[in-house]
Amino acid sequence: MPEPLPPGELLSLDRQHVWHPYGPMPGTAAPLLVESASGVRLRLAEPVEGQDELVDGMSSWWSAVHGYNHPVLNDAARGQLERMSHVMFGGLTHEPAVRLAKRLVDISPEPLQHVFLADSGSVSVEVAVKMCLQYWRSLGKPRKQRLLTWRGGYHGDTWQPMSVCDPDGGMHELWQGALPRQVFADAPPAGFDAAPDEAYTAHLRELIGRHAEELAAVIVEPVVQGAGGMSFHSPGYLRVLREACDEHGVLLVFDEIATGFGRTGALFAAEHAGVAPDVMCLGKALTGGYLTLAATLCTTAVADGISRGALPVLAHGPTFMGNPLAAAVADASISLLLSQDWGQEVKRIETGLRNGLAPAADIPGVREVRVLGAIGVVQLDHEVDMAAATRAAVREGVWLRPFRDLIYTMPPYITGDDDVARVCAAVCAAAREG
Ligand SMILES: *Cc1c(COP(=O)(O)O)cnc(C)c1O
Repeated sequence: MPEPLPPGELLSLDRQHVWHPYGPMPGTAAPLLVESASGVRLRLAEPVEGQDELVDGMSSWWSAVHGYNHPVLNDAARGQLERMSHVMFGGLTHEPAVRLAKRLVDISPEPLQHVFLADSGSVSVEVAVKMCLQYWRSLGKPRKQRLLTWRGGYHGDTWQPMSVCDPDGGMHELWQGALPRQVFADAPPAGFDAAPDEAYTAHLRELIGRHAEELAAVIVEPVVQGAGGMSFHSPGYLRVLREACDEHGVLLVFDEIATGFGRTGALFAAEHAGVAPDVMCLGKALTGGYLTLAATLCTTAVADGISRGALPVLAHGPTFMGNPLAAAVADASISLLLSQDWGQEVKRIETGLRNGLAPAADIPGVREVRVLGAIGVVQLDHEVDMAAATRAAVREGVWLRPFRDLIYTMPPYITGDDDVARVCAAVCAAAREG
């Protein structure tokens, strides 16, 4: 092990050399220096606002559903590390990838039978788009190469995913004009429990019908739009999309990268609607937050279509495709999830969030409080002061990462009731001060 560097020096080198997400170079806001993490707690290298440990309210961007340093996942990683960390996937295969693929097929909606392992969520969306466009090319319909989505979405930061993110006010607005021009429906009316709005339903059907000749696929985040605005909608709209796509010969892609593995109270958000997509993307919680891995699943019809074409292969093959270490941890993480009553744990957290966030509704400047599964959101009527809101949460001993007008939490499923209450108190403090 190299000699440890003092925190002050690390932060100064970080500022000089290290790019952080969605940040300038050099960075403006100083990041917190994390030394280790265990359970639901991040241990800081030096105290901040009097705290040397923070309860993680973010699950490291929805991924660390079992918390940190979990003995079962550590064992899976160690065991695989001693066999092999990686081998190429071209011409070779291995048990971790095969096991994981079989398991994903078993637990996902029935029609999804084939698995492409990618190295990040954004890449899995690129692969999903490539699958859909190539499917129609193979079937002699090369004009079908646009995508339809609804506003308010987020699908990642590489090129095709950026083109289906919310085009207004989002992070990728800068690139309008350079990105492929997709078809945008209005954002779905808010409310998981709200009855589907007929005018909106008609709008979706009309738009899909009108553009059917040029549409390869409809791609949406089912039930919860995450980084695009943390909003929830009726599962009924997913049934409408399924029907309209079938009627007009358009593929349906569900991006379950944020919603997969129980976060919304169903193992996959598609289950709330009882519909299956033609293609589905998974990521984030796939490895329990340990390593980067994502997956694109598709139906046999899609796979057969591609394999009947002039170029009967899917021309995609990341260097680290099917990484054995990540696949072994992913399989262990899914086993761990399914070995417990995860639905009960998510419900318990949902109850804790409902109770703990209710007082936020009375804070001046709060527009709405909403909770679904293990997701709690406080929406302000103004842009959040990130620095002030984050500081307020840290003072309460909690790590949160607000954005735009949103202060939200998606705690690990192992978060105990006291820690859920603490996270809620921190969200309220952030809402008051942000
Ligand atoms: C995070 C996210 C992505 C992108 O995944 P990365 O691993 O960050 O590339 C895509 N879609 C959704 C819905 C996401 O939440």
